Amino acid sequence: MFDGFVDEVNITVEAGDGGDGAVSFHREKYVAAGGPDGGDGGKGGDIVFLADDNLNTLVDFRYKRKFKAQNGENGQGARKYGKSADDLVIRVPRGTVVSDRESGRILADMSGSEPVVIAKGGRGGRGNAHFATPTRQIPHFAKPGFKGQKLDLHLELKLLADVGLVGFPNVGKSTLISVVSAAKPKIANYHFTTLTPNLGVVKISEGSSFVMADIPGLIEGASEGVGLGHEFLRHVERCRLILHIIDVSASEGRDPISDYEIINRELRSFSEELANAPQIVAANKCDMASPEQIAALREYVEGQGLPFFEISAATTAGTRELVEFTYNRLRDLPPLKVFEVDPQPLWEAASAKESGFKVTVEEGIYFVEAEWLEGILRMADMDDYESLHHFQLVLKSSGIIDELERLGINEGDTVSVCGFEFDYVR
Ligand code: GDP
Ligand code: MG
Repeated sequence: MFDGFVDEVNITVEAGDGGDGAVSFHREKYVAAGGPDGGDGGKGGDIVFLADDNLNTLVDFRYKRKFKAQNGENGQGARKYGKSADDLVIRVPRGTVVSDRESGRILADMSGSEPVVIAKGGRGGRGNAHFATPTRQIPHFAKPGFKGQKLDLHLELKLLADVGLVGFPNVGKSTLISVVSAAKPKIANYHFTTLTPNLGVVKISEGSSFVMADIPGLIEGASEGVGLGHEFLRHVERCRLILHIIDVSASEGRDPISDYEIINRELRSFSEELANAPQIVAANKCDMASPEQIAALREYVEGQGLPFFEISAATTAGTRELVEFTYNRLRDLPPLKVFEVDPQPLWEAASAKESGFKVTVEEGIYFVEAEWLEGILRMADMDDYESLHHFQLVLKSSGIIDELERLGINEGDTVSVCGFEFDYVR
């Protein structure tokens, strides 16, 4: 990996646990036997992701890979709720795609500005105040808080730009973006100067602009993982248009037409979609090229059916026409690609998990504790018939029902599953 540009990283996040419910009894002078007044625990903090335009790499995550939100506070007497913990906000560069390593599912595409909850904090446990019933007036128990969700994540930065610049190293990509936008990339006459992609906003007129990405140079064999190219191609993946820069002056001794072909071959071997994306070709360094060199490339490119522009990024000649044409072309193109999130199918996830559980009987209530069920209950809507039905199937297939029967449960008894109470029905 290169220093300075990290666009892929694995991290672990853990939302906060819920605080425990309290066992407490009302105490007051002259009141003989107070009722239960243990408050609930507070909720654990969520892990929340937020896109931040001040970041353009994932490098910070190389040094910090574990994130844990605070736990909720425990409940107290006098029905005092424990304080819920603050969410832990993790800032990532815009365009970061977050996926769950275990399932490979995409959890979020941080392209927008809305914060996204990636791991849910546990609910607080319920205090004994909840467990008083006419027949059970002195509940000596409360419930522990729920565990926060813990996930192994894969983060991948896929930049958001309308236009991606591609081309061999040193053809003038960085120079171009520096003259058409306010971006100030490093420009130097040696290969691989650009190790971090640069985004520049190209202003056409007041209120009309597009975003251009200067992506480190592709080289031959890049898509097979030789050199830089492959790694960086993911950044053009969602561009709406490719601006292909060619050194028409052949200042480094290569043939411009073969440059064109090599780059397009690289794009194709990375993805067919990328190869078929709309493309505009700009012949750069026209200030150093002969009219014959320019004419030959023009003939070839136009023969391929692509728009062709003669520019000099160094003198800015032709760049205005190029960006205006690009802007108009973009208006006819579909918007930036956003990756679909892939939510975890609730019940599938549960049955795939280890279905260990523990059933205890306390003061006539059957308490079922199972970590894998907590996740389901947290997400399921128990007022929804479909969810409830699935839930019952899970209780049966996991052996929980058998265990309840073995312990002598009767029709109408109370079952408390991870804090939710049900009447037992056969
Ligand atoms: P990149 O690797 O594609 O980003 O290329 P750079 O923008 O860093 O440019 C590489 C070298 O080519 C630098 O020395 C630039 O000054 C030079 N260069 C870029 N554009 C032009 C141009 O239009 N004409 C001339 N003569 N030189 C240029
Ligand atoms: Mg460059």
